[in-house]
Amino acid sequence: MAQACIFCDIIGGKIKTDFLYEDGDVVAFADIRPIAPDHVLVVPRAHHATLTDAAGDGGPALLGKLLKVAGDLGAARGPEGGYRVVINNGAAAGQTVYHLHVHVISGRHFAWPPG
Ligand code: 5GP
Ligand code: ZN
Repeated sequence: MAQACIFCDIIGGKIKTDFLYEDGDVVAFADIRPIAPDHVLVVPRAHHATLTDAAGDGGPALLGKLLKVAGDLGAARGPEGGYRVVINNGAAAGQTVYHLHVHVISGRHFAWPPG
């Protein structure tokens, strides 16, 4: 675990958070500053700072699990099964929390290309 990681604190129970989904590898919880009517974060229990790191260390099974859970949550929560899945990787892409997470957002129109 990295030092002073807010998502490790959430996963470890130091910061009380309701999990919308959890299993041995992954948890999901509502984003504290939602950018859409529904905004869920899917987060591996293991600390990987970025997608790039996880692709090397976590391997395809973990990444597959994250997308599987993101897809199930999006399909269940998004109106008419519509949702967007986003991973911000690195500062240049807008990543602010350096513990890999998948955003699952739904409930409004999303422009393409994204801003
Ligand atoms: P990023 O910008 O790294 O892709 O996304 C980080 C996300 O984590 C942001 O959408 C932000 O609102 C969310 N976030 C930051 N701190 C907390 C927290 O303590 N609890 C929850 N539930 N979400 C958080
Ligand atoms: Zn962490």
